[in-house]
Amino acid sequence: MRQVAIYGKGGIGKSTTTQNLTAGLAEMGKKVMVVGCDPKADSTRLLLGGLAQKTVLDTLREEGEDVDLSTIMKTGFGSIKCVESGGPEPGVGCAGRGIITSINMLEQLGAYDDDLDYVFYDVLGDVVCGGFAMPIREGKAKEIYIVASGEMMAMYAANNISKGISKFANSGGVRLGGIICNSRKVENEKELLEAFAKELGTQLIYFVPRSHEVQKAEINKQTVIQFNPQDEQADEYRTLAKAIDGNDMFVIPKPMKQEKLEAILMEHGLLE
Ligand code: ADP
Ligand code: MG
Repeated sequence: MRQVAIYGKGGIGKSTTTQNLTAGLAEMGKKVMVVGCDPKADSTRLLLGGLAQKTVLDTLREEGEDVDLSTIMKTGFGSIKCVESGGPEPGVGCAGRGIITSINMLEQLGAYDDDLDYVFYDVLGDVVCGGFAMPIREGKAKEIYIVASGEMMAMYAANNISKGISKFANSGGVRLGGIICNSRKVENEKELLEAFAKELGTQLIYFVPRSHEVQKAEINKQTVIQFNPQDEQADEYRTLAKAIDGNDMFVIPKPMKQEKLEAILMEHGLLE
């Protein structure tokens, strides 16, 4: 079983990319579980056809400790198992706590079936701190991908996340598998992200183009792979799924200083 965490700045496209690529893995016959680790609890919406999944934390709050696996885990597109950890009531407590609680709960209830090929954690955050580090801190997810784009703040976040990863990687087994570019149509974006990835000691594992089809599918509460399987964007996600399935480059990232990040942006004509 490969356990994979997807990190990246808020709004960069983690949940969209995770659901589309896991749909691609499911099409390949892989058995997958997706665990949403964002208090927004929208990590599995497209896989579940818009069903508002009851989160683990809400279930615990409302039903107490005696929880059935079927209450917190729903089956979605391609038989993908879907869980949302949820978060505390706004303004109360650590937003990362839901992740810790959820993983423990899933373990207790036997959700980590030997049959599974992949577990994906879709994790919120610009930095790997507190509860958000949970999937990698506890040695659950050994493999990480960072979603980024050519926008400076996305790269800044990716570099910060790499700092967190390198800290945990030195003491545990977690490794960075690559950067996924979710394009914002920035000029020279692919070259820029390639240079950025190289500086981190990793690879640009895939460049996902920006496409209207993603939003159309989203409005229809589906992944592109389900909504319009013939569309070229569906093939992009299938190719990303294959790239991850066949990946053999796992590194401890070497985060860079802010000056180096700026130099890379400048070399690609993005800063004057
Ligand atoms: P995150 O999970 O990182 O916060 P989301 O996956 O929710 O981000 O994506 C934010 C928005 O960006 C969504 O409305 C989604 O439709 C849009 N989006 C993501 N990837 C693409 C893409 N490749 N092309 C077009 N729109 C995209
Ligand atoms: Mg999300």
